Amino acid sequence: MPEIKTPGGFYSYRGSIHNHSTFSDGTGSVDEIVSAAASAGLDYLILTDHNQLVDQSLQGWRQDVLLLIDIEVNDMALEPERNHLLTLNVRQDVTQFAPDPQGLIDAVRAQGGLTFLAHPIDLPGPIIKDIYPWTEWDIEGFTGVELWNFMSEFRVHATSKPVAVIMAYFPQLFTTGPYPEMLAKWDELLQQHPTAAIGGPDAHAQIYNIGPLRRRFLPYDYCFRAVNTHIIAREAFNREFEHDRDLVYEALGSARAWIGYDMLHPTEGFSYVGEAEKRVAQMGESVSLVEGLTLKVETPANAHIKLIRAGSGVVAESKGRELAFQPSQPGAYRVEVWKKWWFKPRGWIFSNPIYVR
Ligand SMILES: [Zn+2]
Ligand SMILES: [Zn+2]
Repeated sequence: MPEIKTPGGFYSYRGSIHNHSTFSDGTGSVDEIVSAAASAGLDYLILTDHNQLVDQSLQGWRQDVLLLIDIEVNDMALEPERNHLLTLNVRQDVTQFAPDPQGLIDAVRAQGGLTFLAHPIDLPGPIIKDIYPWTEWDIEGFTGVELWNFMSEFRVHATSKPVAVIMAYFPQLFTTGPYPEMLAKWDELLQQHPTAAIGGPDAHAQIYNIGPLRRRFLPYDYCFRAVNTHIIAREAFNREFEHDRDLVYEALGSARAWIGYDMLHPTEGFSYVGEAEKRVAQMGESVSLVEGLTLKVETPANAHIKLIRAGSGVVAESKGRELAFQPSQPGAYRVEVWKKWWFKPRGWIFSNPIYVR
């Protein structure tokens, strides 16, 4: 595992959150999924099978990957299915709280866990119409949102059977980023309260039959090379399960993380900090609006960097590998980095915000 130090003396690790195994509707066993994560070079992997707390004794360092087991919870009696919640760092089963989203969020918090609304904005496609959006917005106290659900975009782009065949073989042609509607929703939330963002592949690796063709769509190792959540940990992993597990959840809960579409180009080395006098603020942190406060972005390759203030849109942008901006107004400032591939700008990096107070 390469140890990468970030500004401020933190350590960055690349992992995958939101994955399904044969314990629910995924097609891979835990061992197969861990092997795929190891071959993709992930540092940590979180399994989130539907509505059950899978045997937690499976957790630990396996094949050089830190495996954590959590739950994606939804009210199974609700028709149509809605409100999927990723509940992380849970030690006790919380599925009985599913019918009441606020009660569920509170129950997870009570045991020190984190809650991320899974694919909260979910759009139907021309062929595949089933969607699982979040509809219960009268909630509070949740950790954040799954800003980029890697699966959902394909549904919108599958406009016909021939297109679906091309998609099955060349999924990268269809990947552009989180839904614009989701980015707008996040900005709306950020104007109300701090809201962390993660990305998840929602990996199932299901096999589809398209006419005579039989193809596994988005296999696990593909997913693990695609959309990852990079955390910025307070300390380096020391291979002790509980120590390293706590570092992962602490970073995710504090929003010290960015979402990287690493298949386009590795995003390791990305940094976004707020520098003021003697202090370096990380993503997810607050910093006072003082004279000289500078928001600084660095990317590991040339790209189109946009600095966005929630509610105001793009306040600064640059083409290259760096951007620096001195804000004059408070607000939640976040970074989007776009990179062209096959004639189209593709979402490459989505940072958590720095809150200027
Ligand atoms: Zn879901
Ligand atoms: Zn899922």
